[in-house]
Amino acid sequence: MIRQKSFEKDGAALYLVATPIGNLEEMTPRAVSVLKEADVIAAEDTRNTGKLLKHFEIGTKMIAYHLFNEEESAEGIIKLLKEGKKVAVVSDAGYPLLSDPGQTVTNKASECGFPVVVVNGPNACLSALVGSGLPAQPFTFYGFLGSKKSERVKALKKLEKHEETLVFYEAPHRIGKMLEDCLEVLGDRRMCLARELTKIHEEFIRGTVSEVLEIADGLKGEMVVVMEGYRPEEETLKSEDWMTVIENYIAAGESKSSAIRKTAERFGISKNEIYKEYFNKDHE
Ligand code: SAM
Repeated sequence: MIRQKSFEKDGAALYLVATPIGNLEEMTPRAVSVLKEADVIAAEDTRNTGKLLKHFEIGTKMIAYHLFNEEESAEGIIKLLKEGKKVAVVSDAGYPLLSDPGQTVTNKASECGFPVVVVNGPNACLSALVGSGLPAQPFTFYGFLGSKKSERVKALKKLEKHEETLVFYEAPHRIGKMLEDCLEVLGDRRMCLARELTKIHEEFIRGTVSEVLEIADGLKGEMVVVMEGYRPEEETLKSEDWMTVIENYIAAGESKSSAIRKTAERFGISKNEIYKEYFNKDHE
């Protein structure tokens, strides 16, 4: 067991600093001061972070911290901490560690007895989840499903009966293929595609997987897919006759239109479709 008091001593510490995911106005004053006061900033991409530092007039020295040489980069950071330095880790956007480098150095620093301090800020997963309209808890953040179909299908099969809301990151050139796999393995669930969060072209596309799939290939920019979790009651619903469900709602005192709306929501089908069939069956 390792217990850490983050602010007991003013000495060497590792700061995990969240940075904007698009909109620079989301850089927090605390992030600016921690980055200014750090002795070194370990960045996923020093060119990208260089632009951020320039914008906020932060003159701190930078070193590179990549995913592909995380072990080696982490050793370098531990050496700096042992020299009494304050080191801030940043990724290109959002939180380090979340689909980004930072795990190895966090563990090593903690094992060596250095405080690991998180400096909060923007994050694509939470923004998408909160704006999606789907249940915000419990949820599972999955990150990227993988670039190969076989990887994605394997991962999705494990999540097929998972009842929590699922959050995936995806690249725009793969979104069509990824949604096809979701449709195939998870079925036509409710979902939300959140695109270009915090930026000028921010968009939330809420619908079913098949609806979003129809327009997916034309979508550009950074995106997050929020997917409804498995609903065991759907299995029962599928076998249920929705006409009976409407009649039951009406018998329970609902108006016709409210009964139709509720039934449409319950079955995940359009109100119009239900209206058409209902009134065709002599319910005028
Ligand atoms: N560390 C970041 C975080 O805390 O959100 C995530 C980094 S991950 C390498 C990059 C992925 O995050 C993108 O491919 C996209 O799925 C998602 N993402 C990042 N910024 C986004 C934005 N502004 N709008 C939508 N998705 C975004």
